[in-house]
Amino acid sequence: MRTQFDVIVVGAGNGGLAAAATTARAGLSTLLLEKHNVPGGSASTFRRGRFEFEPSLHELCSVGTKENPQKIYNIFKELGCEIDWRYEYNTFRAICDGEDGYDVKLRAGFDNFCDDMEKAVPGSRESVKAFFDLVKKNDEALAYVYEKKGNPNPLVMLFKHADFLKSASHSTEEVEIALGMPEKARNIMNTYWGYLGVPTDDLNAMHYLSMVGSYVDDGAAMPYKRSHELSLALEKSITDAGGEVWYNAQVSKFLYKEDGSCCGVQLQDGTELYAKEIISNIIPNNVYGMSDPKFVPEKELKLANARTLGMTFVTIYVGLDCSKEELGIEDYTIFKMPFPNPREQFNRREEGTYYVFNCLNEVIPDASPKGTCMLFFTVPLMPGDLPENLTQYNYKKWKNELAEVYIKDCEKSMGFDIMSHIEEISVATPVSFARYLGTPNGEVYGYQNENWDSVINRSQAQFTDFTVPHLHYCGGHSVMGDGFSSAYITGHDTGIRVVNSIKGGK
Ligand SMILES: Cc1cc2nc3c(=O)[nH]c(=O)nc-3n(C[C@H](O)[C@H](O)[C@H](O)COP(=O)(O)OP(=O)(O)OC[C@H]3O[C@@H](n4cnc5c(N)ncnc54)[C@H](O)[C@@H]3O)c2cc1C
Repeated sequence: MRTQFDVIVVGAGNGGLAAAATTARAGLSTLLLEKHNVPGGSASTFRRGRFEFEPSLHELCSVGTKENPQKIYNIFKELGCEIDWRYEYNTFRAICDGEDGYDVKLRAGFDNFCDDMEKAVPGSRESVKAFFDLVKKNDEALAYVYEKKGNPNPLVMLFKHADFLKSASHSTEEVEIALGMPEKARNIMNTYWGYLGVPTDDLNAMHYLSMVGSYVDDGAAMPYKRSHELSLALEKSITDAGGEVWYNAQVSKFLYKEDGSCCGVQLQDGTELYAKEIISNIIPNNVYGMSDPKFVPEKELKLANARTLGMTFVTIYVGLDCSKEELGIEDYTIFKMPFPNPREQFNRREEGTYYVFNCLNEVIPDASPKGTCMLFFTVPLMPGDLPENLTQYNYKKWKNELAEVYIKDCEKSMGFDIMSHIEEISVATPVSFARYLGTPNGEVYGYQNENWDSVINRSQAQFTDFTVPHLHYCGGHSVMGDGFSSAYITGHDTGIRVVNSIKGGK
């Protein structure tokens, strides 16, 4: 058995798959190690009866189309992956209860979005347009910073990209207030906070603007055959290029040389594997737990302790014995909120019913057998939100009762008769995610992107925060924060960096 490689990647999640495909296709001997028997981590699939469920992906941003390809489209293309992309051209419908409540639907496309917002909040058009103008200016500034490989000329930044400099360190709400956006329009605009897990008064403006801009510009994309299609395509890219993917291969230890550089990993069965470069798709907290403490830099431990673990979810997957038309479902994504303000939605999450409702058949009509449809409820939780008295004996009762609360709320507020049509139902909780992904407290979103720990700050500090030679990180916990797109981008970028360091390029 071969035990020496150029590159070992630990974890076949989105980030690990993209990293391994990049290094394998560059001709480096690459080994990808995954503890499960299938690739993908969160990007997977599961069956219950005659339904094949998407476990995680609501919608993917920054994909674009063949005619107008964006970052993710290009990464898959570059890695030789053919994906059958399907698109949704409404951004979302948002239903909010209470006196200040609303029920609005916003279409993708900057003009459409501005029109729909103006209809919902008369007088908001100018500020919403200014928001999207800023998105474009930010994109131009970032393209320049990228072109200069992170070392932009300060004078060019000052004179050409001043709006970026002014907004980049502020929270989303500070920027929206500066643009004169009315409170109701801010609340609607900030509906997507749940996709990043941080309320918009503490979420970096540049990060949020760029995510919203990308959904509004291109619409959202989904692979036809669930996110498993993406994982299988990347796995094929790796093996076609001569890389190896080992399943049922759980890493239990990271190995170091006496000089402190990382040189390999040990599997649960004791097998030791060595490589010039190691890429971890698993969160640094877990890597430290699998390393001899003397090789873990104190600064990295302090950073891990200072950070807040990101969001997790309760997810309810439902297969119904009737079509979406019979139920009157016309939307792919509906955000249901008990309060209009994101901070209140976050702070009072245990009192209310904040959730995202999805019906995959709206975008992929034949996602389930004819005459049926599938629903997916996502309820955000923070690590530690589980009831204190939760035990293995009352766990099932707790999760089923919770599912009932959300399904009944949906029936009441959206008018769909769900209960009498349930053919299959499955409920996942942070406990499921902790067991499946191996993440601390079942987080699925890496570390919280609070403004002090934003993408901007992480990018600037990425080479000084993590200093163990030959050990690299990619995935939802790394520089760009959570999400499919960021995991693919960081995986691909890390792969390129490793190729350059082994082959001596720049
Ligand atoms: C319910 C849900 C809904 C989501 N919705 C969206 C969405 O709509 N849009 C979006 O962009 N993002 C969404 N996300 C977030 C997105 O899925 C993640 O941010 C992204 O998949 C993280 O990818 P990753 O590369 O960090 O890998 P992960 O998915 O965390 O995978 C890590 C891999 O490492 C493996 N592993 C762990 N420990 C070991 C070990 N010791 N040895 C070997 N292998 C190991 C795991 O088995 C896993 O395969 C959602 C997530 C969930 C759970």
